[in-house]
Amino acid sequence: MFEVQNQPPPLEGYNLFTGDLVLREAVAREGADWGQGRLTSLGGELGLPETIALGFAANRFPPQLKAFDRFGHRLDEVEFHPAWHALMTLALKGGLHSSPWADPKPGAHVLRAAGCYMLGQIESGVLCPLAMTYGSVPTLRQNRAVAKEWLPRIFSHYYDPHFRPAREKTSALVGMGMTENQGGSDLRTNVTRAEPADGGFRLFGHKWFMSAPMCDAFLILANAPKGLSCFLMPRWTPDGERNAVNINRLKDKLGNKSNASSEVEFDGAYAELIGEEGRGIPTIIEMGNYTRLDCAIGSSSLMRQAVAQAVHHAMHRTAFQKKLVDQPLMNNVLADLALEAEAAAVLTFRLARAYDESDQAAQVFRRVMTPAAKFWICKRALTVTGEAMEVLGGSGYIEESIMPRLYREAPVNSIWEGSGNVMCLDVLRALDRTPGAAEVLAAEFDVGDEPRVQPFLDRLAERLAAPDRRDEAQARALVRDLVLALQAALLVRHAPPEVADAFCASRLEQGSGAVFGTLPRGVDAAAIVARAAPLQ
Ligand SMILES: Cc1cc2nc3c(=O)[nH]c(=O)nc-3n(C[C@H](O)[C@H](O)[C@H](O)COP(=O)(O)OP(=O)(O)OC[C@H]3O[C@@H](n4cnc5c(N)ncnc54)[C@H](O)[C@@H]3O)c2cc1C
Repeated sequence: MFEVQNQPPPLEGYNLFTGDLVLREAVAREGADWGQGRLTSLGGELGLPETIALGFAANRFPPQLKAFDRFGHRLDEVEFHPAWHALMTLALKGGLHSSPWADPKPGAHVLRAAGCYMLGQIESGVLCPLAMTYGSVPTLRQNRAVAKEWLPRIFSHYYDPHFRPAREKTSALVGMGMTENQGGSDLRTNVTRAEPADGGFRLFGHKWFMSAPMCDAFLILANAPKGLSCFLMPRWTPDGERNAVNINRLKDKLGNKSNASSEVEFDGAYAELIGEEGRGIPTIIEMGNYTRLDCAIGSSSLMRQAVAQAVHHAMHRTAFQKKLVDQPLMNNVLADLALEAEAAAVLTFRLARAYDESDQAAQVFRRVMTPAAKFWICKRALTVTGEAMEVLGGSGYIEESIMPRLYREAPVNSIWEGSGNVMCLDVLRALDRTPGAAEVLAAEFDVGDEPRVQPFLDRLAERLAAPDRRDEAQARALVRDLVLALQAALLVRHAPPEVADAFCASRLEQGSGAVFGTLPRGVDAAAIVARAAPLQ
């Protein structure tokens, strides 16, 4: 038997909060310092080997559709591995599905974002029902009776996995069905019908993607007599019958394996109108802002875990007589990856704070920067997870390392809730139609006459003022630069100089490289990597 040598210890038994300098600073800066105790406790629980094992089990044993019972009766239930339920129990205990609404206070959205950022590093499939439930609350509040009935259970911290009428459960979760077979970005193509019946509505049609189908109710877009409208469709009718929601099949997905995503058909499903009939898109779009914020949180979380694993590995593995982390080229790669993950985190938590604030500037900021951050952060996660995998060499390609799971998970945040192009076109619309957008952004970017940032800002200001700013073909380039300007400003203000210097030199002067490990000479890569190391 050969002797096992030169292998790193597993990254476990650490605290995902206290062991993450960037996260701790962001939480304190963005107004959730009061929640440090809760985050320390959650971070400790998430870092336990047994919790990490739950993440692996939930993905190794994906959910199964039970469409029928043995006699041929419809069931339309999805069975999950116990690990999924254990992770959901942990998430609801931490309030990650609704705490900012149940217990509103300054910093509440930031605190929840930090919890999701940590949970997503251990298992990110569960973030899907958590995000949708969190995002559904402002929309549900548009129907007072519905809110009165549903919110108390949505605010509960006691996860209830049973498939039974919500009033018999200790808690409730809410999903969302907008996308249809013929078009997801262009929701005006929706063909699902809502027919008035018995004081409510009955839905007929389909949804091509409806994730987390075991949620207790769903926000659904359907065509009512007055036009496209938003409905709440419970899985059980008020009479205690299974609602006519047929789950045709579960999607066989690239990643996001622990979570179920389904194709469904409605055969006269009971539903209640939310908001004004005919105003479905503006009604449900409020939910979209929160779920897009969650895409940024989820992708930042994937990047953090990828970088933590990569740095941890390189600190323990030796090649050519040196620890990998001390090999100059590997140091450059790791520092470059760490910069990207830190820039994503500072932007995500700054954005989350805008959801804690109600003044005009905060509203403008989140209208413009939510789709922008979703676009850029989710795109960067695709490359970061791939490059971080390579740091582990062949072991990184092996499932047990977690790196393949992070890599496969990355694209989903970029695609769902509005794919990249759709996000960038939304930013163009927001810049055009949001009064005060230019002033609010200018104030955010302003770091004095800072030579590392100013030339980039001057060029950006020219483009924003130019008549061809609305050129759709250039929307990705413009949105990328808006995000880089904000990330640079945040890092100059808040990060150590070596981080801000390297970010500005590589992303603003050199242009964000197609490949990591191309930081220019003169940056303090070792200090950047040391800051990113997960503290055990
Ligand atoms: C794992 C997963 C889970 C999902 N869960 C849900 C869910 O729970 N509920 C739900 O409603 N949906 C869900 N979706 C669906 C998702 O939101 C849609 O797939 C997405 O919005 C894109 O819609 P589409 O697939 O119809 O693509 P299309 O609308 O056909 O778009 C295809 C491509 O064209 C681009 N595009 C569209 N319009 C333009 C334009 N004007 N200019 C340039 N480019 C354009 C898009 O950016 C995209 O890249 C899920 C998707 C996935 C992958």
